Amino acid sequence: MTQASVIPYGKQSISGADIDAVVNVLQSERLTQGPAVPLFEKALAGYCDARGAVAVSSGTSALHIACLALGLGAGDWLWTSPISFVASANCGLYCGAKVDFVDVDPVSGNLSVVELENKLRQAEKHGTLPKVLIVVHMAGSPCAMETIHALATHYGVAVIEDASHALGARYQGNPVGDCRYSDLTVFSFHPVKTITSAEGGAVLSQNTALLDTLRLLRSHGICRTEQASAPVYYYEQQLLGWNYRLSDIHAALALSQLNRCDDFVKQRHFLAQQYQEQLLGLPCDTVPAVAETQSSYHLFRILVEPVSRDSLFTHLHASGIGVQVHYIPIHTQPYYRARGFDWGDFPQAEDYYQRVLSLPLFPDLSLEMQRRVVHELEAFWR
Ligand SMILES: *Cc1c(COP(=O)(O)O)cnc(C)c1O
Repeated sequence: MTQASVIPYGKQSISGADIDAVVNVLQSERLTQGPAVPLFEKALAGYCDARGAVAVSSGTSALHIACLALGLGAGDWLWTSPISFVASANCGLYCGAKVDFVDVDPVSGNLSVVELENKLRQAEKHGTLPKVLIVVHMAGSPCAMETIHALATHYGVAVIEDASHALGARYQGNPVGDCRYSDLTVFSFHPVKTITSAEGGAVLSQNTALLDTLRLLRSHGICRTEQASAPVYYYEQQLLGWNYRLSDIHAALALSQLNRCDDFVKQRHFLAQQYQEQLLGLPCDTVPAVAETQSSYHLFRILVEPVSRDSLFTHLHASGIGVQVHYIPIHTQPYYRARGFDWGDFPQAEDYYQRVLSLPLFPDLSLEMQRRVVHELEAFWR
């Protein structure tokens, strides 16, 4: 099997229009802080029915400034899901906050509202309620946001949606990113996500004050001017910010990709449906669709017996099928174990991790490639 024929689990789809959009910026005056970023922000906010969007250099920097904008700092607690990419927890540590996890539903991998309710009740008794909760829409399947929002409101906890997987997903018929049940929503535009800017991310909100703070945090805490009479060179640093800006080159790519977002999600749905039908009869479960939600199908996951997961992974990799495991529970990472966590802390997350495998799913996955994936699964169990 040659390198060239490896089918990855996820991959960008770049069109001629995407390339033209990037080239146009390269031939223009301004490579950064030009017109493309605000154009993309407006289009993204419109797509998601949010009041505004702040584009940044990555999903990780988006999570960082989202936490900062909500005032997360030393002495505060941030809670998130152990089944996520490490960035969902690291952003709390960047702010000097303490991080803890809420166990997940063992089938969907999404934060369990039962576990959340129990943990909030305990934390209230001990005076250790979190300032911020980050929920993760695993594989693009939205969490139970209405219930989560009601609990968060009751206990005075701010909510960030880590929707890195979920651009193009819907909850109760509305787009993820509208922040109907959260303070802020974060997207990533890494090449495996629904749309890409190579590297990039964004924070969305309905709250004008939060959006203003996010813009300051993105660029050194600096704004041009407070007074109309000030000279043009004048700017002010009002808080400690970062350089997390997105360049116009990246924003132009993101804007062009956003035009294709609905087509991408449609194709992902079609391919997911194909998998559902073709995997019937094999000794694996698929993650069922959830009522009131429409997944963006960032990932197509199967759940297998823990004893066969690693040998299946090895078989598929040897056959050029780039399956992946999403995710190793964050609390079991050496860095987090050195900070007091251990195996056994979140048993449902650990059970999910031992059974889950993501099959290749991306808009340009051909039916022949998909057939090859299914064939190798059949061969493994034959
Ligand atoms: C991709 C991803 C991130 C980080 O996004 P980057 O753009 O790579 O920094 C954070 N959380 C989740 C759930 C992700 O999948």
